[in-house]
Amino acid sequence: MEKRIASYFSQFKVPAEVISFVDRPVGHYIGGSEVHTTSDQIDLIEPFTCERLTGVANGTVADVDLAVRSARSALTGEWGRLPPLERQRLILRLADAIETDADVLSHLESIDVGKSISEARSIDVAGAIANLQYFAGWTSKLDGRTTKAVALPGETLTYTVKEPVGVVAAIIPWNFPLQILSWKLAAALACGCTIVCKPSEQTPLSAMRVAHLAAMVGFPAGVINVVNGFGHVIGQALAAHKGVDKVSFTGSTPVGKAVGKTSLDSMKRLTLELGGKSPVIVTGKANLDRAASAILSGVFLNSGQVCDAGSRVYVHRSVHEELVHKLWTGAENLPVGAGLDPASKITPLVSPAHRNKVFDHIGSAHAEGAEFVTGEMDSESQRSDGIVRPTIFDNCSENMRIFRDEIFGPVLGVSHYDTLDEATDRANSGDFGLAAAVYSENIDETIMLSRRLKAGNIYINAHGLLDPTMPFGGLGASGFGKDMGAEQLDGFLSTKSIYVQVAGHSTTD
Ligand code: NDP
Repeated sequence: MEKRIASYFSQFKVPAEVISFVDRPVGHYIGGSEVHTTSDQIDLIEPFTCERLTGVANGTVADVDLAVRSARSALTGEWGRLPPLERQRLILRLADAIETDADVLSHLESIDVGKSISEARSIDVAGAIANLQYFAGWTSKLDGRTTKAVALPGETLTYTVKEPVGVVAAIIPWNFPLQILSWKLAAALACGCTIVCKPSEQTPLSAMRVAHLAAMVGFPAGVINVVNGFGHVIGQALAAHKGVDKVSFTGSTPVGKAVGKTSLDSMKRLTLELGGKSPVIVTGKANLDRAASAILSGVFLNSGQVCDAGSRVYVHRSVHEELVHKLWTGAENLPVGAGLDPASKITPLVSPAHRNKVFDHIGSAHAEGAEFVTGEMDSESQRSDGIVRPTIFDNCSENMRIFRDEIFGPVLGVSHYDTLDEATDRANSGDFGLAAAVYSENIDETIMLSRRLKAGNIYINAHGLLDPTMPFGGLGASGFGKDMGAEQLDGFLSTKSIYVQVAGHSTTD
């Protein structure tokens, strides 16, 4: 292990089990065990030290083929024959195993993504457990329905059955690797599907750990597979593979579009959870302390690397100055530091390359005339620890990149408005439609705005609330289909319609 990583780990007393899990080459998980099909490795960089943590297998199309074949045979094997209540039991056991392993998984997520270990525990690990527990209950409730035919002659029996869609390819981004894996895994398993997961090559550790835990609690070989490697190789091969029935993709809009086109060539089912640039409206009737605190956590959670981050604020002119002051003092007081430090809220971004992109956006905001409030002046102030300080610009407008583009870092833009019509028109003006937030103590305003805003998820006096019962997904350039909620189940099920023509009998027969 590299010197700075070793001293970082010893400073924060990283458990020996975590070290033994990462201090080795990471392979793929296929057919019930970890396999090493190649010695070709991609460097995994720890974001706080920027040193090499370990190497992860640079997978090939052949690895994808192996994993898909393994997932297909599991479909028709023991897994496919399990009664729903047995599936439910296994999913609950996996949730329990994740709970027992929470300390290891939070450490893995923190050192892989750079994120705060406190958030890894309370959001990523807790969210994964909740998703599995919620969807476990659905295994026994996936009924079809019996209909009463209304246009058929004679006597008929007409009913539908629900069947697992088959092999699911789950393509996962790097910002919440465990939680987003659980979004796909929980519902797919509940529906009886098998899965081939492709994590980002930057953050493969938690998916590998979950695959090991699943085998430990008794999942049959081949139900959960993980293939590591680059997206343009592994993700692309999964989208193109004829043995994959459904692609559930979470990631950026351009990659999602490409994955969608490839998937449709072989007529796969498809869910696309894509990017966002979520607007926030603060009316003159808002509680500004409450609003400022929720806005700050909504945009700076996970150091801004959140798809539904509320990154453009429209505030009524009458309370503009006061809100900006509260945002400024709140942002300056956010604890900045290493991901493994439980007190840190702003931690290193996932990679130097991503940090450079965020600095490019900050540079453009300065250049385009946004008014600097706090944070990073320019790329010269880059720190060696991978962190970008929470940065706020005021007096932004829609023709500036900071108000149009998804930055995916700790950068907030603010602008003031005069009427609610103006605020909604401007909030709805972008291509994305993932989320929007409204702050007001006036119930009529909140209901009216929640109806007028074009987004898949609306938050009132809060930001980023998530619950397994609630479907999450976007409109427009933010994609289509839902993760979580009962609505997600249909994405992993095929509905078969069965018509039975009953032979006519007289009553004396
Ligand atoms: P990317 O689109 O770059 O990557 C997402 C996944 O796709 C990764 O596993 C990546 O692999 C893979 N991939 C890359 N190229 C291809 C390809 N040609 N074919 C198939 N798969 C490919 O997104 P990021 O990982 O950078 O994640 C950030 C984005 O994700 C943001 O836009 C964010 O808004 C969005 N997101 C959306 C969410 C939602 O629910 N709507 C939730 C969280 C994030 P690799 O990394 O190995 O290249």
